[in-house]
Amino acid sequence: MPGTPTPLCTALLIDGELVEGCGPAEPILNPATGETLVRIAEAGVEQVEAAIVAAQRAFAGWARTTPQQRAGVLLEIADALQRQQEQLARLEALNCGKPLHLARQDDLAAAIDVFRFFAGAVRCQTGQLAGEYLPGYTSLVRRDPLGVVASIAPWNYPIMMAAWKIAPALAAGNTLVFKPSEHTPLSILALAPALNALLPPGVLNIVCGGGESVGSHLVSHPAVRMVSLTGDIVTGQKILQAASRTLKRTHLELGGKAPVIVCDDADLEAVVAGVRAYGYYNAGQDCTAACRIYAQAGIHDRLVEELGAAVASLRFAGKRDADNEIGPLITPRQRDRVASFVERALGQPHIERVTGAAVHSGPGFYYQPTLLAGCRQHDEIVQREVFGPVVTVTRFEGLAQAVDWANDSEYGLASSVWTQNLDKAMQVANRLQYGCTWINSHFMLASEMPHGGLKRSGYGKDLSSDSLQDYSVVRHIMARHGEHLE
Ligand code: NAD
Repeated sequence: MPGTPTPLCTALLIDGELVEGCGPAEPILNPATGETLVRIAEAGVEQVEAAIVAAQRAFAGWARTTPQQRAGVLLEIADALQRQQEQLARLEALNCGKPLHLARQDDLAAAIDVFRFFAGAVRCQTGQLAGEYLPGYTSLVRRDPLGVVASIAPWNYPIMMAAWKIAPALAAGNTLVFKPSEHTPLSILALAPALNALLPPGVLNIVCGGGESVGSHLVSHPAVRMVSLTGDIVTGQKILQAASRTLKRTHLELGGKAPVIVCDDADLEAVVAGVRAYGYYNAGQDCTAACRIYAQAGIHDRLVEELGAAVASLRFAGKRDADNEIGPLITPRQRDRVASFVERALGQPHIERVTGAAVHSGPGFYYQPTLLAGCRQHDEIVQREVFGPVVTVTRFEGLAQAVDWANDSEYGLASSVWTQNLDKAMQVANRLQYGCTWINSHFMLASEMPHGGLKRSGYGKDLSSDSLQDYSVVRHIMARHGEHLE
């Protein structure tokens, strides 16, 4: 890619120092070509330890800063992100294979906004009133930080996930050890020198490495007070088990399998455009992807036909960045996992391939955007998260059936309903057991609004002032002062 930032930053951030890892060096791939971009050494055991100790030491000072002071730093981080925006967008494109224009327009813009939002939000939190709830005693409630937070991120939106995790935790007064995904550390490492210049030593540490090595060390360390994970359900379960030994707080954002209920009276053109965009954005590597369509009988056949044509027109793997709408899967393993889901689905006689369903020939880890019709509720492809460019269509007759099927899932993150009848939309939306339901839309997020799941999608809230609550604890201070003035 012309203008690729070189050399790539490989240093971790530990206690105010930019240092190379002393663990094994792992290759970082460009998923669009399969090439190794660089090798990055994992944090060694003693480096993970040093990062936690530094965060622990820095906590007392950072926790005592005022919201105004922390807001000032967050705004400076947003400015630094903005200054490095082009470099970071290029690194996201390089390390994830994302189209560069989308990394610029979406990932970087969102990450910057998240720091700005939390800078404002921490200065205007609200809560219970102080007062005399027992005669002769005044009670007041404080919201205090927790201590050292270990934040562990996935690979699908590296810089945006870093922002979602770092901004609220710092705003609330915690110190952090942040671990990016072992596949996608490049953007946060490129930002590390700027973060280091803006924050006191130890307040934010960045360590790279695998989940079982560096991640599990963070999770089991007694000085870590909270673990925040965005990742797979199985990873969430492992983290809960490890965290239970020291009774840490956990903030879990796990997978999704978003139902998309399309009623007979939906605006077909809008549905087709919406699913084409939000079922396949980021090659479907998105926990809110519009991937599980329930189409009412009266619209079903037209939807399958028009959506099939629209999905087949998605552009990817082209030479000109501006032409590409989606990128590859992150690793060959992820691509093969997607392929095997589709293969098993097509082994079912009732499932029909409308378009796609093959690994893309040529370099990189691309998989063709795929639409499968005739899927049934209990099919694996309807029940399990694929995390790739694969959307299923299931026909339904009555809305009660669609709501039951939509809710019959171990996931509970995102959902949508498409109809031109607002009464119907509200009735369906109110019955869905998902952290978010969009009406005649899908996928849109706002920094002010909470994002998080129900059921096995986890329970942590990202974005919004709800996230500040997750990263802090309520404390009651009660002062005895008698009842009568002398
Ligand atoms: P993953 O669970 O494999 O990895 C996520 C992070 O956890 C990585 O940094 C990894 O190194 C670390 N990890 C893995 N095992 C660990 C362990 N035993 N202890 C500590 N850390 C460990 O997930 P992924 O493949 O990177 O990302 C894809 C998954 O993330 C999908 O299931 C997707 O739905 C989910 N996701 C959820 C959201 C959300 O907001 N709910 C957002 C993005 C991705």
